[in-house]
Amino acid sequence: MAIVNENFLKLPGSYLFSDIAKKVNAFKIAHPEAKLIRLGIGDVTRPLPPACIEAMHRAVDEMAHAETFRGYGPEQGYDFLIEAIIANDFAPRGVQLKASEVFVSDGAKSDTGNIGDILQGCNSVAVTDPVYPVYIDSNVMSGRAGDLQEDGRWSRITYLPCTAENGFIPQIPDIRMDMVYLCYPNNPTGTTLTKEQLKQWVDYALANDSLILFDAAYEAFIREDNVPHSIYEIEGAKQCAIEFRSFSKTAGFTGVRCGYTVVPEEVMARTSNGERVSLNRLWNRRQCTKFNGTSYVTQRAAEAIYSPEGKKQVKETIDYYLENARIMREGFIQAGFQVFGGVNSPYLWLKTPEGCTSWQFFDRLLNDVHVVGTPGVGFGPSGEGYLRLTAFGKREDCIEAMKRIAKWTK
Ligand SMILES: *Cc1c(COP(=O)(O)O)cnc(C)c1O
Repeated sequence: MAIVNENFLKLPGSYLFSDIAKKVNAFKIAHPEAKLIRLGIGDVTRPLPPACIEAMHRAVDEMAHAETFRGYGPEQGYDFLIEAIIANDFAPRGVQLKASEVFVSDGAKSDTGNIGDILQGCNSVAVTDPVYPVYIDSNVMSGRAGDLQEDGRWSRITYLPCTAENGFIPQIPDIRMDMVYLCYPNNPTGTTLTKEQLKQWVDYALANDSLILFDAAYEAFIREDNVPHSIYEIEGAKQCAIEFRSFSKTAGFTGVRCGYTVVPEEVMARTSNGERVSLNRLWNRRQCTKFNGTSYVTQRAAEAIYSPEGKKQVKETIDYYLENARIMREGFIQAGFQVFGGVNSPYLWLKTPEGCTSWQFFDRLLNDVHVVGTPGVGFGPSGEGYLRLTAFGKREDCIEAMKRIAKWTK
């Protein structure tokens, strides 16, 4: 009989969203007349930009004729998309990339989860806490996380707490780490780092030969100056960082599936003998072996995001979500809550009232005002005492929820 990868057995069940669903269902049975407002959803709700839909229709028609049919494409993605990415997402910010440094994929979850394939199991790992769970669970699967302890932390992972006390700025470790995951604008807290704050991480990585895994899935929500859109805006980052991008939250591609990862040629790791190896070469090899490319139709849809109409339509959708975020943020502040995020991000991170845990506050919000959030503790131990709300819902729901909150706290 084959032997399983026992690291998988160490993973606890992922109960956060099923526990929420159970509580919501129980509430619905007890109060069938109540109108629930879900402010916890982590998926977009606005449809795809029309420019993308038109591009997809055209691409489908091409597939219908032998002359224009496309079979397997390049594993790394088509040049038309890679060139559009470089010309629009990087060149205007002063970042020069080669086509060979961009790898189109089916999304940032796959890439952030798979990147560990090219890194040894003994590497030390640091994550911010609270955290997007993929970074931790994928490291558990590859044996880098150690064992789950009573306090909810993995024994070999270094947690960098991000709380109101430190302004959600993770403290740079005083020891060297091999791999550091950073996600900005952050999921779940909705907070950002300034250029100066991110530069400190790049300087740390360069001084310590650390690798930064930078998840910029929410880049398109940045509206303030001095918040870097790409880590490569920071000098030296090409030598120490891999960046992940996604069209999911940018352009509603959660169901279409497309993203990309930048692995600069300069970024290196070493062999156990100390020989320096290009991670670009390894990632290319990994993708060519285990991935056969994103569909042609999807890549044409992604390319259309960068057309003049596409850009305008994407901005309109993100503006809609950001206006939802503003309404919620102001509503909660007026009601006397401490709220973080929601400015360059679709996420709001709400401090629960004094003495109230994440789950207690979740229950109160559900039972008293029929609003559903996500308990912050579900994203890591430092999320205790917070609740995550998202701006991906309908405008009228956000307004109605804030009316109820205002009445509730009066
Ligand atoms: C949503 C999300 C992703 C992305 O996902 P894909 O849909 O797989 O591209 C990646 N990272 C974070 C932090 C996210 O919230």
